[in-house]
Amino acid sequence: MATFTLIEPATGETLRTVPEQTAQDVDRAVRAAAKAFDGGPWKQMNTRERGRVLLRLANLIRENADSLARDEARNVGKPIREARDEVDLAANCFEYYAGATNKIGGQTIPGAASGVLMTFREPVGVCGIIVPWNFPIAITSWKSSPALAMGNTVVLKPAEQTPVTALRLAELALEAGMPEGVFTVVTGQGSVVGEALIRHPLVRKIAFTGSTEVGMNVMRAAADDIKRVSLELGGKSANLIFDDCDFDRAIASAASSALGNAGQDCCARSRVLVQQSLYDKFSKALVDAFEKVKVGDPLTEETEMGPLVTAAHRQRVMGYIDRGRSEGATLATGGNAPEGNGSYLQPTVFLDAKPGMTIATEEIFGPVVAVMPFKDEAEGVRLANDSIYGLSGSIWTRDSGRALRVARAIQTGNLSINSGSSVHLEAPFGGVKRSGLGRELGLQALDAYTEWKTVYIDVT
Ligand code: NAD
Repeated sequence: MATFTLIEPATGETLRTVPEQTAQDVDRAVRAAAKAFDGGPWKQMNTRERGRVLLRLANLIRENADSLARDEARNVGKPIREARDEVDLAANCFEYYAGATNKIGGQTIPGAASGVLMTFREPVGVCGIIVPWNFPIAITSWKSSPALAMGNTVVLKPAEQTPVTALRLAELALEAGMPEGVFTVVTGQGSVVGEALIRHPLVRKIAFTGSTEVGMNVMRAAADDIKRVSLELGGKSANLIFDDCDFDRAIASAASSALGNAGQDCCARSRVLVQQSLYDKFSKALVDAFEKVKVGDPLTEETEMGPLVTAAHRQRVMGYIDRGRSEGATLATGGNAPEGNGSYLQPTVFLDAKPGMTIATEEIFGPVVAVMPFKDEAEGVRLANDSIYGLSGSIWTRDSGRALRVARAIQTGNLSINSGSSVHLEAPFGGVKRSGLGRELGLQALDAYTEWKTVYIDVT
């Protein structure tokens, strides 16, 4: 079988090779998944037993957490501490949804007719799951675990850059007792394997996380046979800093929520909006904080930021840095790629960005922030909403009335007050505007992987 080579971002050396699968391989995997679903062992399995299989998988992820985190850190280039947190999230997802298998059901409804009106919640069928390279094991798990819990079968396509942990997860799923064909991973290029998955007639649902551009393509392809789709797409989230904030915490968070995973985070707070009265002091402290970030080997415990995922992606991010300079923003720190083989890039701050500049509107997906001032609450909200995206965001203020007013006014799917957090396993996650469609995580994710069926019995 043909293979392709993965390059380790920290060293530029070969990491391993992976099968370069084709549309025929996708067809085989989807047919096996359809067979496993339709009258197959998974859908028929006693719900308690299905829950136990998912729980065993959660435990196997925990037992293998060290090696999974190391694999992820080497493949993506992310700091080992972040990789550990993501592996932990993966285990927690399987554990959380394991508990849902025998708790989510239909209803009996007091309808107008004299008979009995009831609903069932049924699995959709074969789910094609397509994930990006930035949080491979976390996103793979948060999509697959609710899908599997509800009795669906899954064919998963990891990003071509980062398939390592998905392949290990498929092995662990078999070890946990998941029947063959229930959770299959296909590796290869998006334009070949991904495309074959979104167009396959036996795939009933596509859950996609990735760029808005490819998300639009997924939605168009799904229209041909009315596949269900959920889309988690790009972002350009605002960090809104008011002059009554807890200064030190706001600075620390402005750095970590922009530079986590080297800024390759759909929820990165890449637009830092600072109230005018605090602007100079905040900008200076932010530059200091960016300059203190420990950039280095992902496997070293102290590292806070690793390299970007590939040299090609770094090139793309540097293109944005050039645009920022040429459009007149002030490059206050960073902007350069250090010498050496890894795809490293310095944490970068642009001050005095203006609405409409490329660095203030497009998703850069790298360690780059655009800082701009705002006068008052109304202007802060207007600037925060001045985006085609609406995924995440933060507000920093000690005034709780203002915090809630602004939180209600910002057009986004997720928001934190006095925190840089974005993802909570137990609560719905997703975007508005071009950041996506539908919600994942929490009990709401189960809606994305179930159909309601209404049954009426005449009892006369
Ligand atoms: P991408 O859109 O290039 O790729 C995502 C996945 O789609 C990959 O597996 C890729 O192989 C596949 N793909 C590519 N072309 C395809 C096609 N024609 N048909 C089917 N599949 C195809 O995105 P990426 O570069 O891997 O990830 C970065 C993007 O993901 C960013 O825009 C980021 O904001 C977004 N993202 C969003 C979330 C979220 O939850 N909203 C989370 C993480 C990343």
